[in-house]
Amino acid sequence: MPELPEVETIRTAIEPLIRGERLIEIELRDRTIIRGDAEAFRSSVMNTRVTDVTRRGKHLLLLLETGRGIALHLRMTGSLLLKEPERPNRVRAVLSFANGTRLFFSDMRRLGTITPVESIEDYICRLGPEPLGDEFTPDRLACCLAKHRIPVKAALLDQHIVAGIGNMYADEALFEAGMHPLTPANALRDEQIFHLCQAIRAVLERAITCQGASINTYALPNGERGTAHDTFRVAHKQGAPCPECGATIARLMIRKRGACYCPSCQHLRNDSTV
Ligand SMILES: [Zn+2]
Repeated sequence: MPELPEVETIRTAIEPLIRGERLIEIELRDRTIIRGDAEAFRSSVMNTRVTDVTRRGKHLLLLLETGRGIALHLRMTGSLLLKEPERPNRVRAVLSFANGTRLFFSDMRRLGTITPVESIEDYICRLGPEPLGDEFTPDRLACCLAKHRIPVKAALLDQHIVAGIGNMYADEALFEAGMHPLTPANALRDEQIFHLCQAIRAVLERAITCQGASINTYALPNGERGTAHDTFRVAHKQGAPCPECGATIARLMIRKRGACYCPSCQHLRNDSTV
């Protein structure tokens, strides 16, 4: 599933190709990809210039010269590709630009969305802090988590609490912080919050350097695979030995999502209960 590092990798790849370019055609092969009226969307954005390509959490944002925007969310299996993929039946939309660049929104499970946005600020204001932004400090993270008496793993996946982290990077960050995924979010001590904040940044930055993780369908716009999954220590590693202590990586379910962790390195403190 594309998380912050994967979306940031896509943004970095397409930004120089479409920034300043005019959107000249939107081919909708599956109209359900559009949130709202598909025809109204087409007419409102056709022949407008893209002034910037940004990201917030897992949302890729195309800012238009009209002040409006287009928000793309890849959800579970979405990809943005520069060439028609080998399985064209997975392509749900094609965005064409005046310089010849074409973006194929490929999406096996068809959960991804394209949302017309009147105001980017209004669209992103409901999201939690950006983990790679200056505002993401231990104090801010402590403030975000303090209101939630839920497992810290579940809190990290809630985009209203912190934006951009999904299942695999939450597992990696909790391992790096030495924190059990069931630790109550509102029971973390200052020192634990500090380590978790550092771990989240480190894990996400490392994954961006590797151009994301291609566990399943994720690919870069040029079709290549990211390599961040090669650096994973617990995510998707159930049954493998812990790289730190050799104990067997375990998996438990937290709110219907699997959590991989090392039972030896990531202790649940005796005074922690959810
Ligand atoms: Zn271990």
